[in-house]
Amino acid sequence: METEVLIAGAGPTGLVLAIDLARRGIRHRIVDQSERGFPGSRGTGIQPRTLEVLDDLGAVEALMAAGGPVPLVQNWRGTERTDVRQLVVPADASPGVPYPVPWMVPQWRTVEVLTAHLEELGGHVEFRTELTGFAHDADGVTATLRRADGTAETVRAAWLVAADGGRSTVRRTLGVPMTGTQVVDPHPMLVADVILEGPDRPHIDRDHWHMWAENGLLALRPFEGTETTQVMASFPDAEGALEAAQALTPDDIGRLVAERSGLRLTVGEVRWSSAFRPRMGMAERFRTGRVLLAGDAAHIHSPAGGQGLNTSLQDAYNLGWKLAAVLRLGAPDSLIDTYDAERSKVAADVLSLSSRIHASDRVPERGPQRRGKETHQLTLGYRESPLSRELRREIPEGGLQAGDRAPDAPCGTPAGAAMRLFDAFRGPHFTLLNLTGTPVQAPEADWIRMPEVVDAHGHIKEAYGTGLFLIRPDGYVGLATDDPADVAPYLAELAGV
Ligand SMILES: Cc1cc2nc3c(=O)[nH]c(=O)nc-3n(C[C@H](O)[C@H](O)[C@H](O)COP(=O)(O)OP(=O)(O)OC[C@H]3O[C@@H](n4cnc5c(N)ncnc54)[C@H](O)[C@@H]3O)c2cc1C
Repeated sequence: METEVLIAGAGPTGLVLAIDLARRGIRHRIVDQSERGFPGSRGTGIQPRTLEVLDDLGAVEALMAAGGPVPLVQNWRGTERTDVRQLVVPADASPGVPYPVPWMVPQWRTVEVLTAHLEELGGHVEFRTELTGFAHDADGVTATLRRADGTAETVRAAWLVAADGGRSTVRRTLGVPMTGTQVVDPHPMLVADVILEGPDRPHIDRDHWHMWAENGLLALRPFEGTETTQVMASFPDAEGALEAAQALTPDDIGRLVAERSGLRLTVGEVRWSSAFRPRMGMAERFRTGRVLLAGDAAHIHSPAGGQGLNTSLQDAYNLGWKLAAVLRLGAPDSLIDTYDAERSKVAADVLSLSSRIHASDRVPERGPQRRGKETHQLTLGYRESPLSRELRREIPEGGLQAGDRAPDAPCGTPAGAAMRLFDAFRGPHFTLLNLTGTPVQAPEADWIRMPEVVDAHGHIKEAYGTGLFLIRPDGYVGLATDDPADVAPYLAELAGV
């Protein structure tokens, strides 16, 4: 094989997969047809669970520096400010959740941060390179790449991952249908990144997300650390309304902003814009032989509730360690089937959540409604997965179970230094957490670590209870047991060792 994994598309999904594979030493190529990454603000809400994923991958500090907490909403009625409200609730402050506050980062900056992090790890995106077609067989994929200079190349790869977005060439070439496809909202929506000008420009302070709801939604969201403001507007459903929204010029957008706000605002420049009817749908399957669909290529959402990018990026995080286990440890091919089983269930749940949020936002003259804790993605898990083995005799009611996200906890090292459980989990390895109270022989494999942690304040015990917990590399409890003898058979089944 020339390469082990070929990734089509360097949006958030493809980049996270490339980062995870790079840190595992898996030979991969990542190609993108664009000039240099996605230029628009699109997916801005980064949820607490995604921040944890980025912490594990070593990119959370750079990402947080590129944005800020989701601001409060300043409601307006015409030129009058009315109430200020919280649109996005943070997670409860708790020892188990290190990043309780959803973060707001324009997608182009997220893509920049992830691209830079991939380069730090020795990888790179091949821009201006389009995947135009492929054939697949039992051992891999033969794909054709075409560069902007007109040259073409044939690549042989053991696996192809389609991270090529909602219009996925790969999904269409495979002929995998989208199921449940429907328009979530017939009202066209405009999203544009603009330089806002005009005498009333100072009223649009950069600490708030400014909203008007009386004459159709208008939302103005200045982004921290950038000079751009995101304009969001919805339009009445009418024949030709979408095409009209798609044809808006900078002057038209300026007029729209001035009319709906009543403020003397103009638009000097439009950096990026998109008009669309929010749709939902999910690929019938995420795996076809050696080809895997991930991110928007596998599921498309309403933007309401900020779930699409987060779900997409976590698809990649679920897949990275499984591909590495098959390619390096000799894990059975069936491990890749669990990607489809685990992520298609999550995608279905998240699709219905974003559609529900979208429906509640559509009540006229009310504007978007408060987003609850279910949007944080901290409670998503894989209890029903074939990889989740709950073998403890007693599980406290409402307590952690196999398949759940493995929570963080402040603790200490035997030498007395402060640490967190996430420090022990960080990296590409599995972690065996011994909370049985008796010594357990550490597994010999170098891809499993058994950290020595001191739980002086009882945070670990409170979060986990007692037992032996095998934490997957993507931070979910794979096995929970009382008996150390259960570990070897579980690993044998999982990774073929
Ligand atoms: C208005 C709006 C607001 C949103 N807000 C949020 C939010 O707040 N939070 C959230 O979580 N999500 C949000 N989303 C959704 C989010 O933007 C997407 O879910 C996310 O971009 C999916 O990432 P991806 O990497 O799978 O696909 P994409 O970001 O679409 O990336 C696909 C990449 O593949 C490349 N490509 C395509 N075809 C080929 C090919 N044949 N060969 C090579 N390269 C190819 C493209 O150039 C592109 O770079 C929003 C979406 C919209 C439209």
